[in-house]
Amino acid sequence: MHIQKITVGPFSMNCYLLVCPRTREAVIIDPGDEAERLWDAIREWKVEKIRALITHAHLDHIGGLSGLVAKQPFDIGLHPADQILYHKLPEQGHWFGLRFAPPPPCLCVLQEEEKIRFGETELLVLPTPGHTPGGVCFLAEKEKKLFTGDTLFAGSIGRTDLEGGDEALLLHSIRTRLLPLADDITVYPGHGQETTIGRERRNNPFLQSVWT
Ligand SMILES: [Zn+2]
Ligand SMILES: [Zn+2]
Repeated sequence: MHIQKITVGPFSMNCYLLVCPRTREAVIIDPGDEAERLWDAIREWKVEKIRALITHAHLDHIGGLSGLVAKQPFDIGLHPADQILYHKLPEQGHWFGLRFAPPPPCLCVLQEEEKIRFGETELLVLPTPGHTPGGVCFLAEKEKKLFTGDTLFAGSIGRTDLEGGDEALLLHSIRTRLLPLADDITVYPGHGQETTIGRERRNNPFLQSVWT
């Protein structure tokens, strides 16, 4: 699995394009902005089949969907508990003084613990509510890679002061779903640099009280 990180938009959100080099099947996690740039990357890989997976429905993670779907229709996987937030994209824009058209309607419901296959890779859907009600992480078990959206960052965790945020629930999600994973799993967060589960378990100041 090739991973291309493309940081987009005014919130410097990390979109990840995952491509199976053998079958040219791909997944794009959180196409948040700059659809033209994302489309160029998809074409560069000569991708034959693609779908989008959404870690959560904040504007910086879904704002590029309309532009991409206009190029080529594809499935969009989202946890059902974030669908209300998803359809509030124009309203979310108002919170930050940004304008967004309504997002594309074609949604696939992500099931908790569902395995999503593309090419030779399998992504497991881990429910991690707290930053938003329907927040999820995607784990590539074989490749030891975890895509955490705004649930877990290098040295930090997602904010919980926006609509639907719940700090106690977020810490519970991280403690029960992410910290039990192996030390050497690489974490690819929605903002900032990569890290590992081991480093965050040892050093992340927000997690010391929940783990010990
Ligand atoms: Zn967010
Ligand atoms: Zn974000």
